[in-house]
Amino acid sequence: MNKKQKNLLLRIIIAAIFFVPLYLISEDIVHVSVPKWVVLILFLIPYLLVGYDILRKAFLGIKNGQVFDENFLMTVATVGAIALGEYGEGVAVMLLYQVGELFQSYAVGKSRRNISDLMDIRPDYANLETEDGTERVDPDEVEIGSVIVVKPGEKIPLDGVVIEGTSALNTSALTGESKPREVAVDDEVLSGSINTTGVLRIRTTTEFDESTASKILDLVENAASRKSKSENFISKFARYYTPVVCYAALALAVLPPLFCMITGVGMEHYASVGRLWGDWVLRACTFLVISCPCAVVISIPLSFFAGLGGAGREGILVKGSNYLETLSQVKTVAFDKTGTITKGNFAVTAVHHSPLDEKELLEYTALAEAHSSHPISASLRTAHGRRLDESRVTDVQELSGHGVIAKVDGRLVAVGNEKLMEKLGADYHPCSHTGTIIHIAMDGEYCGHIVISDELKEGSGEAMQELRKAGVRKTVMLTGDAESVAKKVAGEVGISEYRAGLLPADKVTAVEELLRECSGNDRLAFVGDGINDAPVLSRADIGIAMGALGSDAAIEAADVVLMDDDPRKISKAIRISRKCLAIVKQNIVLALAVKFICLILAALGIANMWIAIIADVGVMIVAVLNAIRCLFVKKL
Ligand code: ADP
Ligand code: MG
Repeated sequence: MNKKQKNLLLRIIIAAIFFVPLYLISEDIVHVSVPKWVVLILFLIPYLLVGYDILRKAFLGIKNGQVFDENFLMTVATVGAIALGEYGEGVAVMLLYQVGELFQSYAVGKSRRNISDLMDIRPDYANLETEDGTERVDPDEVEIGSVIVVKPGEKIPLDGVVIEGTSALNTSALTGESKPREVAVDDEVLSGSINTTGVLRIRTTTEFDESTASKILDLVENAASRKSKSENFISKFARYYTPVVCYAALALAVLPPLFCMITGVGMEHYASVGRLWGDWVLRACTFLVISCPCAVVISIPLSFFAGLGGAGREGILVKGSNYLETLSQVKTVAFDKTGTITKGNFAVTAVHHSPLDEKELLEYTALAEAHSSHPISASLRTAHGRRLDESRVTDVQELSGHGVIAKVDGRLVAVGNEKLMEKLGADYHPCSHTGTIIHIAMDGEYCGHIVISDELKEGSGEAMQELRKAGVRKTVMLTGDAESVAKKVAGEVGISEYRAGLLPADKVTAVEELLRECSGNDRLAFVGDGINDAPVLSRADIGIAMGALGSDAAIEAADVVLMDDDPRKISKAIRISRKCLAIVKQNIVLALAVKFICLILAALGIANMWIAIIADVGVMIVAVLNAIRCLFVKKL
């Protein structure tokens, strides 16, 4: 609890201690004869003590022309009750309302803290190596290429490459993965992970603003500002609802007694005209208390907040509550193949060459691929295995879905699939090996091909089953790879449909076709690794990027970012969103139903203010507790 909350708690306790004996006396349960005005003054002590801030806010609201809010409702209702001699009820309403407020601010604060705890990746300092030892500086001041030292227990402040030392890193705040990651010299490390065992010397590769930790924090901080439809609805609703309720209460206070007086109907129930008016004004006050929309207004954003937090804890970053809403309606999931369903670590399984020897072929290939970020490129460079002299490479062009063309030693080297060869008019030989075939041509002359093959990710098969269990009706694989490879992969993981040989633009068309097939409220998600599929990620109803740590394009283009490579997180994200939306609905229905019942009871004169406020605070507490369930997700 913070200071403000503790303060409020104290005020509530003291006011309650005052209130209880007073109430017993005023209701004649304990017989003490005190004049009525003394009772009033005594009641005003707990009333003002517990409610002065509400009164003040209501007053300021009126002064600033923003009259109708909860503070106003509460002020009018309690002042009305006290003016009518119902001191006990007036004070009790204020007291209980504040109990509700305290509870709510505690719960919101708690779930907010939960998100930032979980995102406890903001580095405070960096140990920068200088000529005379190390110096503790702000991570903001460290330039690219500097050397920093990270001791065990410290957070890695900037992305970089290890140049000395080995250690295990705890990346759970980034990925939700609790297994430590072993790193050694030449391994890349990401800011936000915690160094657990050894001292590391790291050469930084980014500035602070561009580092993984900053990017993720930006994303999380902006998430709460992207409102879901239900949240927008509620804020619009509150804008009209409160004034409407106030006028309705006014009508309730004035019209029935006027009617009685004019027609004389029902007058016999009241001892005097004063009683008649007092009775209806009190009913109007009760009506105001009942109509206070606190439970609904607070529980919806809180549920989404908790949902975002619960997902974040699992390494699933959802960029806003609106995406949580869309995610819950996903019925079709389209996948990219490389890097999404498969590992994207290709192993070279065969090299077929003609004019060049194998070593030369691999070397030219690796050089041409030197600047590509495609998984195929990384694998080809690994297969070559030696240091590359990048100054030999110029004029690099990457043709997405085809391959790369570059000048190496002044010769035009093309590395890519059959489509690329056809485009260049190189006379390639088809290959019957299963696997992805990468053809190489130099100055338009065909030089052979390299067969590479990829492995499925461990969770891929299970991920498809989980998706089906989560209610996804259709899974489709869209790939730029060859038909034979696509067919094999789709069969192995159990994907119902696949389309092969697609260029990035064709993937957009394919997704558009699939979107047309979706009916009604069904939504389509596209899952990719962010490499050359940014257009599709943004075209789908919801774009999910996986393995996004380190891939900037994915973090930008996607709506949901899975921080590690595990495809099982897709169904988990869907389940979290469904749970969150279900909780939102439960809360709305609960709150409205209770309000509605109270309103009827009040109109019939059965419910008094006590019942009304207890119902309101009760509903709010239940709604808040329910919302907090969103934070907890069942482990797979
Ligand atoms: P996927 O849909 O499986 O992710 P991409 O659209 O990224 O595939 O690529 C489709 C095909 O284009 C690859 O299978 C490969 O044949 C070729 N290709 C793309 N980029 C490269 C590259 N850098 N080097 C060689 N071939 C490439
Ligand atoms: Mg791809």
